[in-house]
Amino acid sequence: VEAKMAHMAQHDALTDLPNRMLFREKMNEGLARVAADGTAMAVLCLDLDNFKTVNDRLGHAIGDRLLVWVADRLRECADDNDMVARLGGDEFAVLQRGPQPESAEQLARRLVEIISHPPLFDGHIVHSGVSIGIAVAPVDGLEAEQLMKCADLSLYQAKAKGRGGHEFFRTELEEQASSRHQIEMELLGALEAGEFHLVYQPQIRLDNGQLTGFEALLRWNNPRRGPISPTDFIPVAEETGLIVPIGEWVLRTACAEAAKWPSYVTVAVNLSPVQFRSRGLAAMVTSALAATGFAPHRLELEVTESALLQDDAATIAILHQFRALGIRVSMDDFGIGYSSLSYLRKFPFDKIKIDRSFVGTLGETVGSEAIVRTVANLGINLGMTTTAEGIETQEQLEVIRRAGCTEGQGYYFSRPCAAADVFRAIDRFDLAAQAARTEVA
Ligand code: C2E
Ligand code: MG
Ligand code: MG
Repeated sequence: VEAKMAHMAQHDALTDLPNRMLFREKMNEGLARVAADGTAMAVLCLDLDNFKTVNDRLGHAIGDRLLVWVADRLRECADDNDMVARLGGDEFAVLQRGPQPESAEQLARRLVEIISHPPLFDGHIVHSGVSIGIAVAPVDGLEAEQLMKCADLSLYQAKAKGRGGHEFFRTELEEQASSRHQIEMELLGALEAGEFHLVYQPQIRLDNGQLTGFEALLRWNNPRRGPISPTDFIPVAEETGLIVPIGEWVLRTACAEAAKWPSYVTVAVNLSPVQFRSRGLAAMVTSALAATGFAPHRLELEVTESALLQDDAATIAILHQFRALGIRVSMDDFGIGYSSLSYLRKFPFDKIKIDRSFVGTLGETVGSEAIVRTVANLGINLGMTTTAEGIETQEQLEVIRRAGCTEGQGYYFSRPCAAADVFRAIDRFDLAAQAARTEVA
């Protein structure tokens, strides 16, 4: 009984892997050896990709089976001398001796590869994958605390790079983390200090060159660092929840500006998945429309599929509320997620925006053109507008037009412009469209 109790205290009940406590103990032993004989030891921190989604969509029983499956793959790939542990949730770790970083590199590659093949549980193909952060003693440190911190930072980097990969620790990562922390602190005050503004990018009808509307894009002019890209600060705003007040500011500002434009011109506003999880999104939208007197049918809300990933039913209910108000809803960045098609069936979007990665690789990557054409057809069959994003050249425009997309957006037509320049852009496209009409006539 005593032996059993001791085992239970040091192992995880689900996978029977050593737990965090035992892992720490072994790590300290390992580090003492590294200090004594100068050999190397790597710490690999693993975190499953999409584990929460698997749990939410397929239930905890399947989530548990996935964890057990991963634990078995880890045991299979690791050496007898390596130590595999479950640190908690979907986090695992491996302690590995041997020549470093080669051994860790090899092991990480194998793990990423093996875990990327989805297992089949009860007829469900369970897509997951793993991201791995690696720190090596003695180069990255000789203290357990320090080494874990390095491995965690590397893991964070692997996730940020798009998951399903591994990263070794580099000192730049520490600097990046502290700049992220700073962005976080500075974001707090940015809204009140009036450091945000919106720019507007034209969306153009491809059959006649007419401007249909603008997409509002957020800009942050940080007085200490200069302009910061939304791709850098929106993730931080999402993590901290600040995207909720910021998103409200964006919507109100965009509606107030657009209310001054000619009545045929629409405005599109991006919504973050985090806003869907906050309560009162539909009420916030209603009150922004009321406060600015902006007509709902001139408003378009752009959502990405990551909004739908989290809680399908609740999100779709909100989308229907938007629809009932007369607002149009677009699916943004179409094609880069993994189940876009099923979402098109769950909600009748008004518009599909084809991600600019497809447009940017037209003529380079085989298949991009076929994909664009297929999505355009899909739009025709589903009665949805299709907008190609990121058109930069005349050649791309020709391909897009031939493919049958309805609208285009991109530097070729116009870069995002300041609010004050919107009227000039409207005039310019009006004139161009008129000229094109006379030419045809
Ligand atoms: P998005 O919604 O897909 O916006 C389009 C992005 O593509 C914009 O980048 C735009 O400037 C850029 N773009 C447009 N045409 C071209 C082109 O021809 N070539 C290239 N290379 N890029 C082009 P931006 O403004 O940096 O925004 C990036 C992303 O940040 C947006 O992607 C959106 O996901 C997010 N974002 C921007 N503003 C907001 C906002 O107000 N709220 C939320 N939640 N997200 C926002
Ligand atoms: Mg967008
Ligand atoms: Mg987009």
